[in-house]
Amino acid sequence: MRKAGRHFLQIPGPTNVPDRVLRAIDNPTMDHRSPEFGRLGRRVLEGMQRVFRCAGPVVIFPASGTGAWEAALVNTLSPGDQVLMYETGHFAQLWHKMALRLGVEPTFIEGDWRHGVDAARIEERLRADKSHAIKAVCVVHNETSTGVASRIDRVRQAIDAAGHPALLMVDTISSLASIDYRHDAWGVDVTVGGSQKGLMLPPGLSFNALSTKAIEASKSAKLTRSFWHWEEMIAANQTGYFPYTPATNLLYGLAEAIDMLENEGLDAVFDRHARHGAAARKAVEAWGLEVFCTNEEHYSGSLTAVLMPEGHSADGLRRTIHETFDMSLGNGLSKLADRVFRIGHLGDFNDLMLLGTLSGIEMGLQLRGVPHHKGGVQAALDHLAQTAAKQPEVRAA
Ligand SMILES: *Cc1c(COP(=O)(O)O)cnc(C)c1O
Repeated sequence: MRKAGRHFLQIPGPTNVPDRVLRAIDNPTMDHRSPEFGRLGRRVLEGMQRVFRCAGPVVIFPASGTGAWEAALVNTLSPGDQVLMYETGHFAQLWHKMALRLGVEPTFIEGDWRHGVDAARIEERLRADKSHAIKAVCVVHNETSTGVASRIDRVRQAIDAAGHPALLMVDTISSLASIDYRHDAWGVDVTVGGSQKGLMLPPGLSFNALSTKAIEASKSAKLTRSFWHWEEMIAANQTGYFPYTPATNLLYGLAEAIDMLENEGLDAVFDRHARHGAAARKAVEAWGLEVFCTNEEHYSGSLTAVLMPEGHSADGLRRTIHETFDMSLGNGLSKLADRVFRIGHLGDFNDLMLLGTLSGIEMGLQLRGVPHHKGGVQAALDHLAQTAAKQPEVRAA
């Protein structure tokens, strides 16, 4: 049955793809060995350096984010290498599981999922590792299962304070182009990114941003790699080409998305996300529900995970909202299944879209008889009105 109007896709990725990007993707596929393609290739590779805020190479894979996770590990590590990982939530767990499968030896620092990375605990482990057996520290910047964003600058400081040579690898799949991130300034060696979240593209592209130290490590790494090998990629990318067929049409979209982000200004993009996160939390607070993240400093600008009152099903609420108002919200993952729902407020998103989203949730709470106070939408609306950028007055000449 036809549903009028646009579906509200408010999961924390894939996100709403703007029309400009859709139109760019809709162009005829070109010869990926043509001169034209070389120009496009260079344009997106250079553009992504500005997005990652790095001067070294960015590698683009035709794969979802999981592929770029694997690429980060297989290009830098050898079988049996020790790796320090931090349990921020479901995505950190998946990366840890992958590391185990690939034959490295990860130590998983346990977390309660409600706080971000405690850099002091990383420092402690690294200080105890006198022989420098730990080859890499892997952390998720923005944990998409919980709405908790960790401080990567602190992780860098912890590694430096311990005087440890481990590589720093960071998953920014749901923070890139949504939450402030600086690959070079924070001394990150491999940053992992994906296309379908803050970058406003469909799924299908993922990224590794590399430091000189990471490239050096890749020369002696012994894990088996072929498709993910950086070497052929970096060599072909010099002239804007790829060693195998790139996702041509997604690259058209990427060029457009980079233009859009730079036209708005990356810092303005980060501020917009932070402001929407704050407004969403105002609503949750007014409803009398609990934001899952318990550390204010780690609140995420990309998404807000909300804990359901005891005895009420988050999936039931999501189902009612989907059926009644044609809106998708994120589900609770692994141990949070049915306990939380997640509001994605990242990507191509504005004030009125946020208010529509929160309205759908407030009506859903009412329809399901979930105990809550009214006025969440009003609280968010007040916050947005109070913090709205005032347009400069146009003065007559
Ligand atoms: C979405 C996401 C992933 C997984 O990426 P896929 O594109 O689904 O493979 C990994 N890490 C984080 C933090 C994510 O948000």
